[in-house]
Amino acid sequence: MSNDQYIEIVNDRENNLKNVSLKIPKNKLTVFTGVSGSGKSSIVFDTIAQEAGRQLNSTYSSYTRLFLPKYKRPDADEIHNLSTAIIIDQKPLGGNARSILGTISDINPLFRILFSRFGQPKYGDASNAFSFNDPLGMCPKCDGVGRSYVLKLDKAIDYNKSLAEGAVLLPGYTTKNSYYLQTILTSGLFDNDKPVKDFNKQEMDDLLNGNKKVKVQIKGVEHEVNYEGIEHQFYRVNFTASGSTSDSAKKRMAKFAEMAECAECHGMRYNKKVLASKINGKNIFDLTNMQLDDLLKEMDNFKSGQMTSIVNDIQSRVGDLVDIGLDYLSLTRETTSLSGGESQRVKTVKYLSNSLTGLTYILDEPSTGLHPRDVHRLNDLLLKLRDNGNTVLVVEHDPDVIKIADHIIDLGPKAGIHGGKITYTGTYEGLLTSDTLTGKYLKNHLPINDSPRPADKFIESSKSSLHNLKNVSLRIPEGLFTVVSGVAGSGKSTLVEQVFSKEYPDSVIIDQTPLHANSRSNSATYTGIMAEIRKLFAKANDVKDGLFSYNSDGACPECNGKGTIEMNLSFMENSEIECPICHGGRYDLKVLDYKLKGKNIVEVMNMTIEEAVDFFEDKKISSKLASIQNVGLDYLSLGQTLNTLSGGESQRLKIAKELNKKGNVFILDEPTTGLHVSDIENIIRIINDLVDKGNTVVVIEHNTDVMRSADWIIDMGPDGGSRGGSILYEGVVSGIKDVAKSYTAKYLF
Ligand code: ADP
Ligand code: ADP
Ligand code: ZN
Ligand code: ZN
Repeated sequence: MSNDQYIEIVNDRENNLKNVSLKIPKNKLTVFTGVSGSGKSSIVFDTIAQEAGRQLNSTYSSYTRLFLPKYKRPDADEIHNLSTAIIIDQKPLGGNARSILGTISDINPLFRILFSRFGQPKYGDASNAFSFNDPLGMCPKCDGVGRSYVLKLDKAIDYNKSLAEGAVLLPGYTTKNSYYLQTILTSGLFDNDKPVKDFNKQEMDDLLNGNKKVKVQIKGVEHEVNYEGIEHQFYRVNFTASGSTSDSAKKRMAKFAEMAECAECHGMRYNKKVLASKINGKNIFDLTNMQLDDLLKEMDNFKSGQMTSIVNDIQSRVGDLVDIGLDYLSLTRETTSLSGGESQRVKTVKYLSNSLTGLTYILDEPSTGLHPRDVHRLNDLLLKLRDNGNTVLVVEHDPDVIKIADHIIDLGPKAGIHGGKITYTGTYEGLLTSDTLTGKYLKNHLPINDSPRPADKFIESSKSSLHNLKNVSLRIPEGLFTVVSGVAGSGKSTLVEQVFSKEYPDSVIIDQTPLHANSRSNSATYTGIMAEIRKLFAKANDVKDGLFSYNSDGACPECNGKGTIEMNLSFMENSEIECPICHGGRYDLKVLDYKLKGKNIVEVMNMTIEEAVDFFEDKKISSKLASIQNVGLDYLSLGQTLNTLSGGESQRLKIAKELNKKGNVFILDEPTTGLHVSDIENIIRIINDLVDKGNTVVVIEHNTDVMRSADWIIDMGPDGGSRGGSILYEGVVSGIKDVAKSYTAKYLF
């Protein structure tokens, strides 16, 4: 192979990388392995994706660059043969209330064409008429959102009072001389002294939504005005254009109104004319609201005559979503409610259908949220991306994904300063026999827990039918380690996080949502260590402890404790550069004269947790450091900001903070995310520690080692969506063996 068949990096020093040089074959599937913190992301994201983005940006004019994301030059000597890089990450798709799976996957527009051409009766002659985002297609009451604010009448009106006594409680009606109140009282429409509860239907309608010309007396002067009912007025004042509301309006409304399913369209978003137009007895909502695997079959009935080619298009796109394991979703599902793993799979499918080649796709742990049964579907997709002529780079811990790599690059040997080197490159078979942690642990499997803690007392939620649940309740044994398993979409998060934890508000959900979006909190402030360190510095130097905070008196005056300053060059892109005064240290230089055991505060903040354990003797600090060390994050530095932590690292830091609590119910959502096979025993030990301290731990997991180690397993299924939502088995792990319907059982033994 000639050299342009490789991406080549020479002497990479990003984060913890130790002058790493490597070649990555192009048009192949390369998997990066290694313990978390070893440097995988530093290569893939901080070097390759950064540099590809930067090079792409530099092809634009400086004016255009103002509007593009900012990239910094990676700390490496040379980088060759990059192609445009596309990151398919697990950031939730987000969007707004108008964004649904059907719009984001470009499938809804195909349905619009189908109905505008073949729907009966015909409606509109543009396909826009079948869009709930278009005035022609949207429900007029909710503007196509499917929900709207509904006035809470019992909060808006005191029914026992008359209008003259102040029955209307809404803003604008509560002072005697207000325009709105005077309009009502002098309109002649009401008996002002009759309690509202005695109003007849006409009076009530007028009060709420009346809309007529009346003569009124305002400050003694007669006017002819449009009388407007209070409900009508409330909506008009609080809504700006097309259903959007300002923040201040939202605050006003919170007390008087609530979001509820739209009474006109019942959440279907379309107007009556759109919904009346049908093909084979079904309208656009009926079809897009079907679960995807059912929709795929249903569309077979639509293949006739001229419809066939559009239907084929629809089936091919829906088929891709089904193939990746999203068969349980419907096109009407709002994108804001998709999990990180689901979002990533939707994005992957979108890229699959584009015909660009020669790109570099980068995926971070795409197996997240997938049951072992479905990992092969993901594998097919990764290989398809590669076979379309692209380079695919994947950071993964799942042995079943690592197995299919053309090339493996293993980083290590450990995390942080103990990592940052390449420990192996080559095939999967070679990795298994290599002297690396990855190789060693890939072959290891934990046995089924043969001495589970006995279950005697249970905490039980009430029966629920939320989403796909089939009238089931969650029964958790108190003081045990329980795993909830089942294929994606079977109902695990619905039952555990949306039903159980809402009924037990004292339960603590520890998930992977980022801790803080701002760059001012770090592992030391979050865990409470910082406050103790400041006290020690203050005591040793006999000064105020505020001096040792870069968010307070100790801040570098140049950058206000940010460590960076923004360069605003009108003719070039804005960029963040290191503060020239504190050089990123964030502290006022005069604070650096104060020392603790010979070190200044910046030197202390740069220590790793591991180094800090040796440095501090203070009991409070030591026990907090020990908790962080315990969850395997000893490679973090005290000052590392929370916004640089991955989802998995954030989750483990949250666990560290809670580690010393007793008598709680903890809910962990896929705690093995981001964890190397060698760290899995560690997280199992942490869970068991929590249980030994008297806590109840419920873990949603796909990792079979974690399942085997549990005291109790609750398996949901049998499948996703409408074919799931039942509990197939609850009991000790060994007992699941004979449950024929359980997919989980097939992977445990
Ligand atoms: P992996 O992807 O293998 O989990 P990373 O490349 O994310 O590892 O991290 C390697 C090391 O670099 C870790 O010690 C990590 O804490 C550190 N690190 C990562 N990002 C940053 C950053 N933005 N600032 C400082 N340290 C970082
Ligand atoms: P799991 O956690 O096992 O992957 P979920 O509880 O997320 O499963 O999903 C169970 C079912 O409920 C699926 O059919 C899913 O599409 C549906 N569902 C989950 N969340 C929502 C939501 N916010 N709105 C509508 N349906 C949802
Ligand atoms: Zn509506
Ligand atoms: Zn500064």
